Amino acid sequence: MINSVHTLPGGYRDEHGQLHREVVLIPLSGQEEELLAQPSPLAMASVITTVLTRCVQQIGTLAMTTGLARQLLIGDRQYLLLLLRALTFGDQVMMTHRCPWPDCGQALDMDFKLSEFPVHTAPPDSHLQRMTLSPAASEGHMWAKRQPTVQFRLPNGEDQEIIAPLLEQNEASALTQLLCRCIHSLGEIDKPLPELIQELSPLARQEIEAQMAALMPGVDLTLTANCPHCEREFTVPFELTDFFFGELATGEELLRREVHYLAYHYHWSEQEILALPRNKRRAYIETLASEIERLNDAIT
Ligand SMILES: [Zn+2]
Repeated sequence: MINSVHTLPGGYRDEHGQLHREVVLIPLSGQEEELLAQPSPLAMASVITTVLTRCVQQIGTLAMTTGLARQLLIGDRQYLLLLLRALTFGDQVMMTHRCPWPDCGQALDMDFKLSEFPVHTAPPDSHLQRMTLSPAASEGHMWAKRQPTVQFRLPNGEDQEIIAPLLEQNEASALTQLLCRCIHSLGEIDKPLPELIQELSPLARQEIEAQMAALMPGVDLTLTANCPHCEREFTVPFELTDFFFGELATGEELLRREVHYLAYHYHWSEQEILALPRNKRRAYIETLASEIERLNDAIT
């Protein structure tokens, strides 16, 4: 089995304060494709946890578990998905995108390498993050009069999973819930009640969220391109998860036919075929198809 060793931009700090950053990955196989092809009631964040649990073998000295996949920082989880995409389908991405300028909107081909996205390395501290609000952001908060500080931890996969259902209904209240989970103190108040966090002014929220984003390790998935139709530049976020899972969604029917084709000719079991990474499975199908074609040509 091909596996691949990488370093997380952040890393996981265990209960003894030890940082685990080196990851061992294996590419996705037909088994994960089968899983992703089935309609799932799970939100995307839970699907990411499942895929990471199956394809990341180790983080530092720790064996991967579902619990550990949930404890990883959001930025590390996204970086792992990026690595898994590169490992499964290669570093190169070719996609079609519409020019976002409203008076243009033409489709254009975009071609880039995953390894070209800048990675922000920032191993998490062993203690909580601490920041001071600006005087303008402190205004109107009783607790900030004595000490305008906020202590928080960075959001992880578990937070993502918990707020996912709420995010679809009401984005603002989902973000409030995320802050409730991540903020550990406001001024001298430890474990502040949700009401206190709901009362944060828009400016205070903005400063806290900006600081969380600045400290979050991970990869910056911004794409810059020139539209060949209107000759203007634009930047768009690369929706990695949607793109990667879209590529994987072979569809159950096609997957079943591919398994049947290989089982029929090679007499391999379904489990053996599903355990192959997709590019290997497809390579066998291609070899087999050209061999059959060659034999047919020889007969006629
Ligand atoms: Zn354009």
